Amino acid sequence: MKPLICQSCGFPFTAETRGTNRDGTKNNDYCINCYKNGEFTDHHLTMHELERRYLEMAQEHNEISLEEARQIIRTLPDLKRWKMTNLL
Ligand SMILES: [Zn+2]
Repeated sequence: MKPLICQSCGFPFTAETRGTNRDGTKNNDYCINCYKNGEFTDHHLTMHELERRYLEMAQEHNEISLEEARQIIRTLPDLKRWKMTNLL
């Protein structure tokens, strides 16, 4: 199975960390951190907020490298969740 990329946060996830639909089935588009029981866990999340979080993760917590953070940030505008807002 090829790695899944969350269409909200842009982070890779596995079959075990897939989000869940309202009917309890797994969702292949979003990870469990972003999507639970058929809705986004954080309704107020914006792409810019995500950018900020990734840079913080890289700079302050060293969970990912700055290069990784930048790579993920570059992919955000193409993700399903954020594409729609570009049309509005
Ligand atoms: Zn996610």
